[in-house]
Amino acid sequence: MERIKTVEEVAKRLQVFKEKNKRIGLVPTMGALHKGHLELVKRSVRENDVTVVSIFVNPTQFNDRSDLENYPRSEEEDCKLLEAVGCTIAFLPSTQEMYPEPDERVFNLGPVANVMEGAFRKGHFNGVAQIVSKLFYIVRPDNAYFGEKDFQQIAVIRQLVKILSLKVNIVACPIVRESSGLALSSRNKRLNEEEKKTAVNLSKILFESKRRMNDFSIKEMKDWVTACIKEFPLLKPDYYEIVDGDSLKSISDWSESKYIVGCIAVYCGKIRLIDNICYKKEE
Ligand code: AMP
Repeated sequence: MERIKTVEEVAKRLQVFKEKNKRIGLVPTMGALHKGHLELVKRSVRENDVTVVSIFVNPTQFNDRSDLENYPRSEEEDCKLLEAVGCTIAFLPSTQEMYPEPDERVFNLGPVANVMEGAFRKGHFNGVAQIVSKLFYIVRPDNAYFGEKDFQQIAVIRQLVKILSLKVNIVACPIVRESSGLALSSRNKRLNEEEKKTAVNLSKILFESKRRMNDFSIKEMKDWVTACIKEFPLLKPDYYEIVDGDSLKSISDWSESKYIVGCIAVYCGKIRLIDNICYKKEE
């Protein structure tokens, strides 16, 4: 595996692969890699000739300074994990390399970017669009891999690809969970023992809600999930929404859409966690 730190070098290296008509897969990450990330990388390795994994803690997508400062970093360990699953290039740029000038671009990402995470983390998706568009321009991948853990992010990236008329194919990969059900996240490393025990209830409540969906209207489901979360004083919900899986518009009846997803964000102590569950997906 090659480790490359500059835009110039990665572009030069990839040009060689492109000239040989190699298929290129990109997995953008912020590092502190876990099995969730590695599933994305393995899938890219299977489906492409060359896999580029970027590790970059992107400052423009953080709306909370202390979250950025405390974000876990483990580059050496990450590179070993990437090498073991067959990654071709680890792209490890500095902030100066990615933002030689402040990025003033404002993306009009439409309704998918304004609800849920967009409403609670102002500027977050614009920062995501800034960095992902740069990575797409630099790497020019055939396929780019994103996790459904960040369910809304995938809809936003699809919109970004549309408005920029890019050719990249966006591949959505299922959430990887611990055996407890807790969705893997780099931020889990910052949970203390008590918080971690409590955090497990987030997925437990979502799974239970799916088992009970036939008993509840959408409104009743929202009230039930919110009430369950409230039983844990350490958990402070930002939102729980039941949305159409493509448009992310709130729905009010189970018959309203063929693809229905429940999305939740809660603080567990000081750590913000997100998760989601697919209630219905009819082809
Ligand atoms: P991050 O490093 O948190 O920006 O995540 C990089 C990519 O990995 C994003 O596309 C995430 O959605 C994905 N990812 C993070 N955690 C998981 C998980 N538990 N399961 C599947 N994908 C994940």
